Amino acid sequence: MISGPKQPKDLGSFLAPLDDELVLLAAGIPTFHTKRSKEFEMHAYCILELGDIVAMEKMLGIKGHNGFCPCRSCEITGVRMKSLGGKVYYVPLTFPSNYIDGKGSSWDPAALPVRTQAAINKALVDISDAETQIAKNKISMATGIRETSALTRIGSLDHSRSAPWDWMHLFLENVAQNLIKLWIGEFKGLDTGTEDYKLSGVVWQQIGRETKEATRSIPSAFVRALGNIAEDRSLFTAESWCFWFLHLAPILLCGRFKKEKYYIHACDFVRIMKISLRFTLTTDDVDELEALIISWVKRYERYVTIMINQV
Ligand SMILES: [Zn+2]
Repeated sequence: MISGPKQPKDLGSFLAPLDDELVLLAAGIPTFHTKRSKEFEMHAYCILELGDIVAMEKMLGIKGHNGFCPCRSCEITGVRMKSLGGKVYYVPLTFPSNYIDGKGSSWDPAALPVRTQAAINKALVDISDAETQIAKNKISMATGIRETSALTRIGSLDHSRSAPWDWMHLFLENVAQNLIKLWIGEFKGLDTGTEDYKLSGVVWQQIGRETKEATRSIPSAFVRALGNIAEDRSLFTAESWCFWFLHLAPILLCGRFKKEKYYIHACDFVRIMKISLRFTLTTDDVDELEALIISWVKRYERYVTIMINQV
């Protein structure tokens, strides 16, 4: 039996059967080869972990979203609106105007400080070696590392890279819905600041009616009936959001914003979704995707940035 670091208490119990099976698979399972008519030892290793954001944060033993160092993929650090008593950290690429920490004025999205298994291991050792709880908490906060990841007995998982971001939650449950809230002025009480991306109530109602009408003539194999998005979004599932953005938004939003740049930004979001949904990606596709995402996020911050002037 392969032994290793202990599992986090709460996860250890319900993931124990899986962990045991992974150990057996790594050690080798007697398996019958039907073509060769003989038995062989089959070895298999888990190399990826998938789940929603909260589940993955538990699996990886990280502090996660809203934390100072919240990302499971990189070591970007956040800022919070201290002046208003804010406890939640945001991770804008551009630092607030009065933010001074010697790192410059913004993160370079093309060169974010990616996490490594070695850095995660070092943080765990540092937390373990720290003599007081305050010192442990300080390291934990600075690094975003809370405890040993689950499923560490085999070592086939590199916890800095084994948990890719899942498309449905990232696009459909987060960014897509937040964009809508911003466009109709319902995002955390924010107004549009110096920008002008808000859709008027009349326009949004019209988009709602057109959404409902659209699915009347679309075969149900593509999508189930969509309701009036302006009146009730609670029945919109991830599938509804996917169809709405990919197939309806480029038409329904055309000419609806006061400035064309917001429409182009919305369509670039759709393009990012479409490219990332392809079954096959070439190196050129990945390069295009990276450039497009960086450009999109930079424009997002410029247009709808959450202005944190005091930290
Ligand atoms: Zn990151």
